[in-house]
Amino acid sequence: MNHLAIRKEALSCVRRIVLKLGSSVVTTEDGLDYKIIGGLVDDVSRYKKLGKEFIIVSSGAVAAGVRHMKLKEGARTIPQKQAAASVGQSRLMAVYEEAFGLHGIRVAQMLLTKDDLSHRRRHLNARNTLTTLLSWGVVPIVNENDTVMVEEIKLGDNDNLSALVAALADADLLITLTDMEGFMDCDPRSNSDACLIPLVEDITPDVRRLAGANSSGPGRGGMASKLEAASKVRLFGIPMIIAKGKSPHIIPRIMEADLCGTLVLPSKERMSSRKHWIRYNLEPEGELEIDGGAARALCSSGKSLLPIGVIGVQGHFEHGAAVTVRDSDGNKLAIGLINYSSEEMLRIMGHQTAEIDWILGYHRNDEAIHVDNLVLLEH
Ligand code: GLU
Repeated sequence: MNHLAIRKEALSCVRRIVLKLGSSVVTTEDGLDYKIIGGLVDDVSRYKKLGKEFIIVSSGAVAAGVRHMKLKEGARTIPQKQAAASVGQSRLMAVYEEAFGLHGIRVAQMLLTKDDLSHRRRHLNARNTLTTLLSWGVVPIVNENDTVMVEEIKLGDNDNLSALVAALADADLLITLTDMEGFMDCDPRSNSDACLIPLVEDITPDVRRLAGANSSGPGRGGMASKLEAASKVRLFGIPMIIAKGKSPHIIPRIMEADLCGTLVLPSKERMSSRKHWIRYNLEPEGELEIDGGAARALCSSGKSLLPIGVIGVQGHFEHGAAVTVRDSDGNKLAIGLINYSSEEMLRIMGHQTAEIDWILGYHRNDEAIHVDNLVLLEH
């Protein structure tokens, strides 16, 4: 199949779209870029009236706050960044509200943290809110809740947030608009002959190397974090397009399968939403070390992890917590939800399933981690 046919196929059944707008797209040196935002909103509104649903993940709060407060040195400390985000977020919403208002479309603000998405009930609440807003014809405008952000609950960057929102909303497409033409074979800021890679079929170690760790402009994410986002959504069966936000009419060009930007194809095997949630929303609270036999059972035979294969337990966790599973060489093999607390695990590790009842005086499950709650990590 040629690239055009692949694009057309990837876009053929797209109805629900997450559109991620980076700080470099929605801001200029002087603050929010009303013209660009207005143009993007006009195009989104047109497609919305044709029956498409949009969720916008917009950066720009910190940058808008810094410019509005005329902070010459920018926001340097965390409290300054958080205060700037809180000034800028309401300006950002005002601009979207006005621009969509011209088309008779309402918007809603949703500010999320990692905590909201890792807590199963809050995760489901966020999903219900999103789908209710969409059923009302409202355009949700999502950003990280920067004002309460501390390391433990930080999502990291809006690339990551947009991937989690795309999975949360069961979107059909993630569009990420940035200051580059798409995914390039080298950094265009230092290489004038950098070339666009129009199609990424798989996120291989070579592709990751190309992405490097370059970060650009006022936002937090560079190409590496865009590829991280792509690797999250593709496992969920969602294609992603990375393109330049300030190119004229970039949304219609993408929607009409014009060969602009980079298309990252979804993976052939789709991860269940439960496993996706375990893999990308939970922070492991401890670690299990397992022996070679258990590692083979997990990685090659797709089996559950039994207490007998566990040879070490690190950290303090309750049953139901997420833990990392690693082999004795320290390779991280999987993340899973554990059926026993760290204290219980220390007592039953290395023992047969039949002995659990005898050791603990009760028996919660046969497995330390059931295969349905276990996600293998890619190497
Ligand atoms: N939440 C930040 C803001 O609105 C942006 C983070 C990012 O660009 O990744 O300014």
